[in-house]
Amino acid sequence: MSYYNIQGLKLTDLATQFGTPLYVYDADKIIEKISILRDSFQNVNLKIKYACKANTNISILKLMRKHGVEIDVVSPQELQLALLAGYEGSQITFTPSGVSFDEIEYAAEAGTRINLDNLDVLEKFGQKYGNTKPALIRLKPHVFGGGNEKIMTAHPESKFGISIHQKEEILEIVKKYDIKIIGLHQHTGSDVKNADAFMKAATAILDIAQYFKDLEIIDLGGGFKVPYQEGDSVTDMKEVGKVLTHDFLEFCKSYGRELQLWFEPGKFLVSEAGTFLANTNVVKIDPIKNFIGIDSGLNHLGRPMMYGSFHDIFNASNEDDSIQENYRVVGYICETDTFSWTPEGKQGERLMNKTKAGDVIAIKNAGAYCFSMSSQYNSRLRPAEVLVLDGKAHLIRERETFEDILKNQVVLDIFDV
Ligand SMILES: *Cc1c(COP(=O)(O)O)cnc(C)c1O
Repeated sequence: MSYYNIQGLKLTDLATQFGTPLYVYDADKIIEKISILRDSFQNVNLKIKYACKANTNISILKLMRKHGVEIDVVSPQELQLALLAGYEGSQITFTPSGVSFDEIEYAAEAGTRINLDNLDVLEKFGQKYGNTKPALIRLKPHVFGGGNEKIMTAHPESKFGISIHQKEEILEIVKKYDIKIIGLHQHTGSDVKNADAFMKAATAILDIAQYFKDLEIIDLGGGFKVPYQEGDSVTDMKEVGKVLTHDFLEFCKSYGRELQLWFEPGKFLVSEAGTFLANTNVVKIDPIKNFIGIDSGLNHLGRPMMYGSFHDIFNASNEDDSIQENYRVVGYICETDTFSWTPEGKQGERLMNKTKAGDVIAIKNAGAYCFSMSSQYNSRLRPAEVLVLDGKAHLIRERETFEDILKNQVVLDIFDV
């Protein structure tokens, strides 16, 4: 059953070969998701810009590049990773939030496309570059969309983007410095289910777009919701594609030019490709609950504790479902670090095949915002990463060693005397 293997490789064999904890990514899944997105927007000039903060492993970035996906970065370091992966400046979009102008300059010199998200920065950009460097503007369309408040980015109180209600100020600055605004951008948030939120945001952007004369791009961000469990409601890409394509082409007609439509999905492209493997250290049978304690914690996979996110969890070592128990799956960090949250966003238990110490536990949807948000908390080592490509497992990041924990520590010998 495909549940227990990736491209024919058994999860338990991967755990034995590379050790645990381990991130495993299925390249086929990523390629499939790219196709789904492309197929949903066949009639427009579509560009996919992978929001790489979801997973910045360079081999993943190279895989994206090989499949014609460009890239969205949010820091100078991500920009450098993109260059290392072989992207040219013009294929990179820089969409930071509240960064210093130095970073904007760095990205401009590297030839990237920059999303300016502050009036003050727009003004500085105009002063420095006039019409010599193209730029995009990140707008805040005042729409509500996203799985929960922490991951909504386009509502009225959001810190992201320049409010569409400041249209006059934007246009004044653009005119004053003759800034070449080649695109308008918005990103609604993450886990956006309903096509409706995308439509509202798109409508707001397209309404304001007519006031900019140099447009080549409409960038509608990312945030497509992916399934976390069976029966999960997800973004209906075909529906979003159909409705947005219609509105977008209508706009292009009235604008008098065919524009590019950009999306910057992160989670959509990589979340489902990732499976996290950990070893069962202990099974604690307790009067109140049964716990499975694994050799990992919120230091490696923090989304459940941070967002209350649901991840499917199963025992990869025991396919026999005749005996099942309810377990709370927890980590080894000295904090509450529960992996098994309920769909309602509470810490809870999962009905799993009987588990004993030494069994390999698999956590699904571990491709996005998992390794990239990991830390060395409790002075624990970060996991290794493996990419399964054409039926073969490739190590794409070595497990950390104690050297990595010591790195950059300056040890004072003052205390030794
Ligand atoms: C994080 C981010 C994305 C990707 O969001 P997902 O929910 O992973 O699709 C897209 N655009 C911008 C500007 C972002 O910051």
